[in-house]
Amino acid sequence: MNSNLTFQRFLSGRPAADYIFQDRPYEEQIAQAAELIKEADYVLYGLGAGMSTAAGAQYGGSFFEENFSEFQEKYGKGLYMRDMYSAGFYPFPDEESFWGYWSKQCMLAGVKLDVTPLYRMLIQLADGKKGFCISTNVDGQMIKAGWPEDKIFCTQGDYFHIQCQKKCHEKVYDGTKMFQQMDQARKDCKVPSYMVPKCPVCGGPMGMNLRCDEYFVEDENWHLAEGRFGEFLSEAYASGKKIVLMCLGVGFNTPTIIRYPFEKMVRENKQCSLIRLNLTEAVIQKSYQDREVGINESIAKSIPDILNVVKTKK
Ligand SMILES: [Zn+2]
Repeated sequence: MNSNLTFQRFLSGRPAADYIFQDRPYEEQIAQAAELIKEADYVLYGLGAGMSTAAGAQYGGSFFEENFSEFQEKYGKGLYMRDMYSAGFYPFPDEESFWGYWSKQCMLAGVKLDVTPLYRMLIQLADGKKGFCISTNVDGQMIKAGWPEDKIFCTQGDYFHIQCQKKCHEKVYDGTKMFQQMDQARKDCKVPSYMVPKCPVCGGPMGMNLRCDEYFVEDENWHLAEGRFGEFLSEAYASGKKIVLMCLGVGFNTPTIIRYPFEKMVRENKQCSLIRLNLTEAVIQKSYQDREVGINESIAKSIPDILNVVKTKK
């Protein structure tokens, strides 16, 4: 087994030097994207927040007002109680309140979230090819849509697991059932004290297994997924065959995990091509336009359009 390519070597902090918005007509871009997919033997998906937004996941606006009104009344809207991203950083006064909030977010944005039709279409693009997925999304949607669990590497954790808040040991715990029970028992934005989980090793508070500080736990499964990701890259490179990279709704929040590395792969290896789908930030590298297409459009439109062309011209 060739393990030359690791996640650490894949990562890149360097933006491209020559970003442009392509001025080709939309239909031409769709045709080019479909062609790049058809030619490829390997597909690597890179998922960012924009993919789930396009699929229908909601974080703020009227969705937040409707579901979190009691939290807004109790804590005030302020800087935090505006959307599920900001609210997670609220300095909750105690653990009962912390889990009162987080159990709700995990239920709505993870356990109960089901926006999979667009994800199902995305998966179909890899039909008959070898595929892998690297994701900074934490909502579990790719798996819900039917993607195999051993072909995805979620680098930032998820809404389904908890860990020792101070990372005293490298293990994560399934929180799904606990979130469901908390969701039933919540009163005045708090869960009863007996429901508050404690670290089985140090007895301290538990927290979400989401990368937000230096205490994020990368457990055994995280490392296994990291290893499989490296193996996929190594095998794809060694095959000499074409690899299409699909950068989906990845913005500039954490560009070093998917956006920049994908661009680097195109620069360094002629086997690689890149399809970037993004509502507003689908810039690509001018020097590599023959192998890159950037479609500045709702992903909810571009994925079905690409799939249509891929399926009709097999
Ligand atoms: Zn602990």
